[in-house]
Amino acid sequence: MLSTIVSSTPVRCVWVALLYIVAARTGQLFSIEPANVTPVWLPSGLMLALALVWGWRIAPGIFLGAFIGNAWAYWSWTDNGLLLRALGSATFNGVGDAVGLVVMARLIQKISQPSDWLRTRKGLASLIILGGGGAAMISSIMGVGGLQLFGHLEVGQFWRVFTTWLVGDAVGVLVMAPLVLAWMQPPRDSDVLPTPVLVGSLSYAAFITALLFDLIKLPGSWHYAAPLLLPPLFYAMMTYGLRLVYSLLAVVSVVAVMATSKGMGPLSYKGAADALLQLQLFIGVFSLSLYTMGILALEQQNVRWSLKQRQEELEHLYRQDALTGLWNRYRISEFIELELARFRREELPFGVILMDIDHFKKINDTLGHLVGDEVLRELSALLHEHIREKDLMGRWGGEEFIVIVTHTQIEALRQLADKLRELCENHRFGKRGLYVTLSVGLTMVKAGDTELLLLDRADSALYEAKQGGRNRVVTR
Ligand code: GH3
Ligand code: MG
Ligand code: MG
Repeated sequence: MLSTIVSSTPVRCVWVALLYIVAARTGQLFSIEPANVTPVWLPSGLMLALALVWGWRIAPGIFLGAFIGNAWAYWSWTDNGLLLRALGSATFNGVGDAVGLVVMARLIQKISQPSDWLRTRKGLASLIILGGGGAAMISSIMGVGGLQLFGHLEVGQFWRVFTTWLVGDAVGVLVMAPLVLAWMQPPRDSDVLPTPVLVGSLSYAAFITALLFDLIKLPGSWHYAAPLLLPPLFYAMMTYGLRLVYSLLAVVSVVAVMATSKGMGPLSYKGAADALLQLQLFIGVFSLSLYTMGILALEQQNVRWSLKQRQEELEHLYRQDALTGLWNRYRISEFIELELARFRREELPFGVILMDIDHFKKINDTLGHLVGDEVLRELSALLHEHIREKDLMGRWGGEEFIVIVTHTQIEALRQLADKLRELCENHRFGKRGLYVTLSVGLTMVKAGDTELLLLDRADSALYEAKQGGRNRVVTR
């Protein structure tokens, strides 16, 4: 529903512009005195992530968002000169943001695959350097240049505004871009994040940050024990991966910004102008450490993931016959033991069909081993097609096959055996159209059976079929 609404370019551009303005206004709620500067410029990271996911076509949306946001700040209905200057600087701001973000997003896309942006060192490095560095640089040169050019800055203010703009944009990218990407990109199996874990960890992180920034006071010296509460968070991040890591980064940043904008916490007592830069540095360094944590968590997940894959592969392999792909003796025994246990417990009867190719040696001797192999493969595939999902067919020995038929009666078992024998007799094998027949012995499970007794009975039935002239079914 939402995806169809936002999927056309003009509609996306309107969304982008709206999101830009909402993000900008939200950030400005926590701007810091005296210059009222927003410490973390949320639109930069948000727009970079959207440009990465949606492509350069959203550039008009970014322009519009930045243009409106900037014009809003200097707008005047009464002073025509001021109005023109507001439009001028807003145009500079819009072009700088749109061009900077879209160009850098394009470069990031060239350097790394979408699946790598958060998951590899190369992807993250390009996000940090091109997004947090390049795009922020272009945006602040154009943005602050526009303010200067159209006379919104007082003499001597340029460098200070430039610095806070640049760092604010960079930190905005560091905090917002991975957050948005982590939630917009499809999760991997290893990223499963239960909602209670998410909500619990975020509240816990908010609580600890509130303690560290003096928004909440614990009695006496307990207050200084707050850092001791951190290890569970690190553990959760290592376990639950990307979405949690970047959500936590956002929550910690929000609380830190809220506290500092109220003049509270360790970053604010040196005087407000200093506090702004301190806060930006804190969030910058903190986000870079979390990136490292994110990469570590990922690498651990990747190792776990590939081990699990490998283990599944191996488990399959050592139960499978290499030539025919049928189950091997190991798996057959395992299955018979399970069925025997079920028979003892629930009296669910099952049966065994043992088949041996007649005069197979002759094929090998006259046409060669490779032709013999081909017949074995072709016969396996032919018979396997007629075996039910819940039954098991395996290669018991060289040219002997076995079917364990679950939940059956003797009549049905005999019918199936006959059908398999006929299938073989009526099929022409290989390029030469070879005629191949099967001798078949079958038996039903009995009270007091063991695997050995059961297979022994099937084997003597098969022996009897051979003695009786081959290409026939014998029941025991
Ligand atoms: P019958 O069962 O009718 O008494 O005669 P047979 O010739 O089939 O019986 P025998 O057990 O003497 O021979 C089985 C042959 O199957 C011997 C062996 O070379 C061949 N064989 C076993 N495994 C393979 C295999 O993987 N590939 C090929 N090509 N031949 C195999
Ligand atoms: Mg044989
Ligand atoms: Mg044999």
